[in-house]
Formats: sequence, structure tokens, C-alpha cells
Amino acid sequence: MATTKTKKKSIKKASKTTKKVNKANANPSSRIANNKSKIAPYKPKKNEKYMSAAMKKHFIAVLLLWKEHLKEEMKKTFDHLKTKGETYADPVDRASQEEEFAFELRTRDRERKLTNKIAISIEKIKQDDYGWCDSCGDEIGIKRLEARPTATHCIHCKTLDEIKEKQLSG
Ligand SMILES: [Zn+2]
Repeated sequence: MATTKTKKKSIKKASKTTKKVNKANANPSSRIANNKSKIAPYKPKKNEKYMSAAMKKHFIAVLLLWKEHLKEEMKKTFDHLKTKGETYADPVDRASQEEEFAFELRTRDRERKLTNKIAISIEKIKQDDYGWCDSCGDEIGIKRLEARPTATHCIHCKTLDEIKEKQLSG
């Protein structure tokens, strides 16, 4: 009985360690998400019209800052990949290295796509086209844009799209 208990305990400990590793692996993407904006959310004045000049200025600042953060992250990912490509001659080490390598390549791909999206959003602000839903033309809304500065659809159209996507994929 006592032995089983000890065994259980050590298993528990092992799974805890695995969790920790996963958490570390998940870090790059969560860093991207968290660095969206360090600028305080915009507080519209009374009767301020949607996408006023000041509002547009705010979102340009948010997007530019996000782009800067992303640039730094991409540089880190790139340096990491470069260093990794040079080390680990041991086949066993290399197998796990390759997994990590693939993970970082995916991160890099995601970062690249996000950079494009940010550039498109900045361009949209300049064209006076930012903040409006691409599908229905309604306001996307400040609250949603603060959370997702690159959003191109209002929450209703986005939700509808997701439902359709789910239905299509079965
Ligand atoms: Zn819409």
C-alpha cells in the first residue's frame, strides 16, 4: 500500500514537470498576444464620433507599438533558430530539437502573418477605412478593436463566419 502511494506521488510529480515544459513552449504565442498594446484604452469624449481623428491616431499608435514588439519577437525567434541549427549532433537530442524547430518555424510564420495584418490595418486607418466591418459595414466598435486591433469584422459577422466554418468542416 505504501509503495503504491509513493509511486503515485512520483507520477504526479512527473506530470507536473511536463506541464511546465509545455507552458514554456507556449510562451512565444502568448507573448505576442500580451504585447498587443501597452497604451491605455481610448476613452472617447462625450458625443465624439466613431473613428474621429484622435481615435485614429490612438489606433495607429497601438498598431505601431505592436509591430515594434513583434519585430523584436521575430528577431529572437530567428536568432534562436540560427543557434539551434548549429548545435546538437546527438540523434536523440536532434529529434526533440527538430520538434522545437518546427514549433518555432510555425511561430515565425504566425508572426509574419500578424505583421502583414498590422500593416494592412495601418493602411486602412490612412484610407479612412479602419474600424468598419468588411461584411456588413457596421462599426466594429472600440472595445473589440482594443482587444483585436487588426479585426476586420464586427463580432456578429465574425461569430456567423465561425459557425459557417464549423458546419463546413463537419
Ligand atoms: Zn459585420
